[in-house]
Amino acid sequence: MWGRSQQWGPMTTKEKPEFNDEFSEAEFFGFAKSYLSEAFPNPQRVGCPPDSELQRMAEQPVETRDAAASQHLTRCSPCFNRYMEILANLRRRKAAGQ
Ligand SMILES: [Zn+2]
Repeated sequence: MWGRSQQWGPMTTKEKPEFNDEFSEAEFFGFAKSYLSEAFPNPQRVGCPPDSELQRMAEQPVETRDAAASQHLTRCSPCFNRYMEILANLRRRKAAGQ
């Protein structure tokens, strides 16, 4: 063993990646969430899947079938927010044991 961290230490202090270990998945998700919830306003709801489709996707996601809709979520803030809301409701229902 060479002490890899000691070798790299002096070189990386200047450009230390802030999020390497501490940037958890939850934090990343939180970031993506706040970003996506505002980045793509779509007041006319152009190209949006119906609410029932978002519900179905949240309850029983099927990757191949939902590919288009889930892609849409990454480009449409209103749908993304709605989907998050549905997921939160589902989680609450599950937590309540129903
Ligand atoms: Zn949409």
